[in-house]
Amino acid sequence: MTSPALSALSIDELTALRDAARRDHEALVRRGLSLDLTRGKPSARQLDLSEELLGLPRGHAAADGTDCRNYGGLQGLPELREIFSGPLQVPAAQLVAADNSSLSLMHDTVVHALLGTVPGATRRWADEPRIAFLCPVPGYDRHFALCERFGIELIPVPMDADGPDMDVVERLVAEDAQIKGIWCVPKYSNPSGVSYGDETVRRLAAMPTLAPDFRVFWDNAYAVHHLTDTPVEIADILTLCAENGSPDRALVFGSTSKITFAGSGVSFFGASPANVAWLIGHTGKRTIGPDKINHLRHVQFLRDEAGLAEHMRRHRELLRPKFDAVEAILSKELGGTGLATWSTPAGGYFVSLDVLDGCARDVVMRAGEAGIALTPAGATHPYGTDPRDSTIRIAPTYPEQEELEAAIAGLTVCVRLVATEKLLRDAGRV
Ligand code: PMP
Repeated sequence: MTSPALSALSIDELTALRDAARRDHEALVRRGLSLDLTRGKPSARQLDLSEELLGLPRGHAAADGTDCRNYGGLQGLPELREIFSGPLQVPAAQLVAADNSSLSLMHDTVVHALLGTVPGATRRWADEPRIAFLCPVPGYDRHFALCERFGIELIPVPMDADGPDMDVVERLVAEDAQIKGIWCVPKYSNPSGVSYGDETVRRLAAMPTLAPDFRVFWDNAYAVHHLTDTPVEIADILTLCAENGSPDRALVFGSTSKITFAGSGVSFFGASPANVAWLIGHTGKRTIGPDKINHLRHVQFLRDEAGLAEHMRRHRELLRPKFDAVEAILSKELGGTGLATWSTPAGGYFVSLDVLDGCARDVVMRAGEAGIALTPAGATHPYGTDPRDSTIRIAPTYPEQEELEAAIAGLTVCVRLVATEKLLRDAGRV
């Protein structure tokens, strides 16, 4: 971004602002803070909302009488799949409930596609000369790291207000058969907060791809994580894929990591019957079944879709003041300066802060000097490189309210300092 407001200032005015920011930063460093805004973790108070889980399950029998203590049931408890069928927009019969961490399900899916043959493929991805995934940016660093781990090339695609720039996506997948996938966080995206518009989802489902085995990795991690009274509804990707003649294209992922316990939740995989059979076929080689006791515990705790919604309302009560504070402090300290823009998410776990081009790394460094830990600049982009060096991901959920407010206020000092220094440098005055 450029700085319309500050570009109107004289060099003397800019120098005064820079000097004030330097003094504020020195004072900030002297406070000796130790604050962490790096990862999107639930706070202890959020985890407390699910404390009852530790006393569950009562008994060990599933609805159909299955003894959950035993082996088996690779697809996971049907009654748990029923609860998440609506929120994840996957028929329960096509939903798999697995162990904790959807990231591990995504990892395994990529590995199975490399070493097995996905429905519709002519060969294993490992036997392809080259494999590439499209990565809407800014995006989730662990998606990118997963691909890098397996030598999958990352191709950035810009994000708009409605999701990835579909003109770019359609052109790339139509001309390159080695593009096998795209990472999508379709609701309250990490980190931009963007939710995909209906037309974006339809185009993803309907676009011709040169690769017959192209997959949309639909990571709906924040499906029920609303921050407002008007929950965002996104279009149903699986149905749209089926209606457009590509039933096997979408792979839906989700989890209860930010619903119950982040480290002891349940993950979900939803797809066409062919994809589900493919995944379960491979999963059956690495496990004799998931942790059904944990499934049963989640069923008894959440009860049904309404119970899930009520539980998420309690999360929202804890999270809303934090997101409101971020918005209020950023507006008060940086609003109208032209030094930064930021997202005001309607759900999810992140705020994305865009500073002047070439400033993000320095802002993160200056914040670090003051004891405010931020996700490394660049992490939101493939290979850790943000070509404009402008995006900073803020994760407001974990710190206590007071700590969060101190950290965001401190961050704005760093933004002012780095930006005014840069503008003076650009003007040849430093
Ligand atoms: N996907 C997205 C988009 C995320 O933001 C996160 C957590 N930060 C995950 C997946 C990880 O989910 P899980 O705990 O289920 O592995």
